[in-house]
Amino acid sequence: SAAPLAEKPGILGRLFGRAEPAEPRRVLDDAMLESLEEVLIQADMGVETALRVTANLAEGRMGRKLSVTEIKGLLAGEVARIMEPVARPLPLYAKKPQVVLVVGVNGSGKTTTIGKLASQFRAAGKKVVIAAGDTFRAAAVEQLQVWGTRAGVPVMTAPEGSDPASLAFDAMDRAERDGADLLLIDTAGRLQNRQDLMEELAKIVRVIRKKDASAPHNTLLVLDATTGQNALSQVETFRKLADVSGLVMTKLDGTAKGGVLVALADRFGLPIHAIGVGEQIDDLAPFDPQDFARALVG
Ligand code: GDP
Repeated sequence: SAAPLAEKPGILGRLFGRAEPAEPRRVLDDAMLESLEEVLIQADMGVETALRVTANLAEGRMGRKLSVTEIKGLLAGEVARIMEPVARPLPLYAKKPQVVLVVGVNGSGKTTTIGKLASQFRAAGKKVVIAAGDTFRAAAVEQLQVWGTRAGVPVMTAPEGSDPASLAFDAMDRAERDGADLLLIDTAGRLQNRQDLMEELAKIVRVIRKKDASAPHNTLLVLDATTGQNALSQVETFRKLADVSGLVMTKLDGTAKGGVLVALADRFGLPIHAIGVGEQIDDLAPFDPQDFARALVG
């Protein structure tokens, strides 16, 4: 089972400290709202989302006396309300193989996430094939092979520097022949040359569509939660490069700044399929908006 979310004081834990047994009540006034906004922004929620959350919280409650526990509950409720519509596991289709393209910048946790996903689906009785589509990074290919072994899933590779699209095509072949349920395709994450990357991704898509016009069925963007507000610009960038259908947020175990997820949900509304909560194979958890909101608010 997955590790819990960051066991640090959440946003309001840092603002108010631990709630005392007999809690003082605080007046919900402009000063209080300002400090709330400030901690939300510090937690990477972004100004726009932070203002919306505090405005919703304040509505009809200005001047009321609230305990810290009540404020925490209200805030967690507001966060959960934004997150609920985007909390969705990766949809599974009857289509065989279901092709999942995995994109994201290097270091975001693509390889690790593919390994974890492969393991989860295999445990659920699905037949999985992985394609090591980042053919330019030998280390990434090796790493993926290690994950494939751990997950008990075959990893298709190609010689260093060879065409990722032709590897994807061969992997489609293999997945079809094996009757695989799922084909997970890793891709390069070099953002230094976006034009190249865009063409590379487009070619992979073109080639796999020769075998299945409805593929890829999902394009997962993997984001590193510790990059904070950067995650927002990564979504913008990758949406121009590929038809992103959902997100996986990694490294939520290593940050108290998970607020960027709220900003992402608020701005893009893309489904969050899973969250990474550690480096081990089982450390991929479904995204639970209530748990997340409570952990964030603290
Ligand atoms: P890639 O370059 O996008 O393929 O990224 P990797 O999968 O190689 O991951 C980069 C680093 O992040 C590795 O050291 C991983 O162990 C680590 N990592 C990935 N996901 C998580 C996570 O959810 N939590 C933590 N703590 N580390 C992670």
